[in-house]
Amino acid sequence: MSLFVADGLVKRFGGLLATDHVSLTVEAGEIHALIGPNGAGKSTLVNLISGLLPADAGRVLLDGTDLSTLAPHQRARAGLGRCFQITSVFRNDSVRDNLLLAVQAQAGSSFRCLRRRDSERELMARALELAAQLGLTAVLERPAGTLPHGVQKQLDVALALASRPRLLLLDEPMAGMGPEDSLQMLGLIERLRGDTAILLIEHDMDAVFQLADRISVLVYGRVLTSGDAAHVKAHPEVQAVYLGT
Ligand code: ADP
Ligand code: MG
Repeated sequence: MSLFVADGLVKRFGGLLATDHVSLTVEAGEIHALIGPNGAGKSTLVNLISGLLPADAGRVLLDGTDLSTLAPHQRARAGLGRCFQITSVFRNDSVRDNLLLAVQAQAGSSFRCLRRRDSERELMARALELAAQLGLTAVLERPAGTLPHGVQKQLDVALALASRPRLLLLDEPMAGMGPEDSLQMLGLIERLRGDTAILLIEHDMDAVFQLADRISVLVYGRVLTSGDAAHVKAHPEVQAVYLGT
């Protein structure tokens, strides 16, 4: 059984079938990229998975548990982590406080049984660990809103990881970045490999071919094909529709 299963997801916006019975799986530790032209339904699919949009049909399963009827925060608690295309940091708070808040929110009731000082020390340690993992140690004291765009996106990923997601949903994490920041983010995602499974929407095909264990191609709300980089590159319709060759 796959770690994550989307099974026959459907989403209509009026007369538009934005998601047309999409099924896909993500295996434990896998980086699964979702590509396709603008308007193909990639963001809609991620919103159906995280629960931000209600599906008209279909199911979402994590570790065999059906999450379809759960609200977004319940899905997050169950192990679905997501970043937003619009960054979700508290701009006036320091990087450290942002991380601490996220870690505290995640810990919730599980820390109630610990002595207060122990739990605080543990939460701070986890926040600092995330900062180190995402390359934020040097900017811990900076108000998040004063960070360059690329570093804010790194913080965004760190915040999503605070809940120790089983599956991390990344919708265009390199959008609006210059080449240097993109490369930095690429390295960060590469280093997350194996720790958490990732469903990655990304336009930069070089990044996709470098990162992805598997790639699904979405066109007009449907999965055109799914496979490794070699399979996708060789697919005639992908070449025609997407790669423009
Ligand atoms: P992608 O992320 O692949 O660029 P989207 O999932 O954003 O595509 O959009 C898929 C289609 O659904 C597009 O035609 C878009 O205009 C439409 N769409 C997306 N969100 C909404 C919405 N909230 N209401 C109406 N139409 C929408
Ligand atoms: Mg999109």
